Amino acid sequence: MGASSEDEQTEDYLFKVVLIGDSAVGKSNLLSRFARNEFYPSSKSTIGVEFQTQKMEINGKEIKAQIWDTAGQERFKAITSAYYRGAVGALVVYDITRQQTFENVSKWLDELHTHSDMNVVTILVGNKSDLKDAREVSTADGKALAEAQGMFFIETSALDSSNVVEAFQTVVREIYNILSRKVM
Ligand code: GDP
Ligand code: MG
Repeated sequence: MGASSEDEQTEDYLFKVVLIGDSAVGKSNLLSRFARNEFYPSSKSTIGVEFQTQKMEINGKEIKAQIWDTAGQERFKAITSAYYRGAVGALVVYDITRQQTFENVSKWLDELHTHSDMNVVTILVGNKSDLKDAREVSTADGKALAEAQGMFFIETSALDSSNVVEAFQTVVREIYNILSRKVM
């Protein structure tokens, strides 16, 4: 995090943001929708991506968000501490059609806080909001958990693009706000 000395005109800030959550909740598709406006109907095509750097503008400042994807490693073993190192933001994703992925959010938060700063900005993301008929987790339950944990909350769909940009922007804007308060 912090100002870049190499290229001050085009890059004021670089923030590392990690995506976490159970397998198949849609982490990789949220990232590909955000960074490339693409969606993959199967999980396979997105394995292997480590991170994407996305330029964003907040308060007239150009900010680069370096967004890390687990690249499927949560399927086989715990995520390594290197994944979390230096992260200043996290999107904790569950699937609104699978209650278990919501129950596991606290496990992901524990892991995040074990490996990173307590002040990491977090947003709880209920993904697959397009699958209305298969919903198992209510919006109210999502909101309540986020409030209890001091997180932002949003429901998204990587399939129909709903709230995807907003989810990433909320985290990056808050990181920027915290940082600019510290500087002033
Ligand atoms: P990851 O394991 O958390 O990275 O999940 P993926 O991004 O690989 O997605 C897992 C599966 O869910 C894939 O088949 C995706 O096409 C599907 N998927 C991801 N996001 C959405 C969504 O918002 N809506 C729907 N209907 N399917 C989604
Ligand atoms: Mg993935």
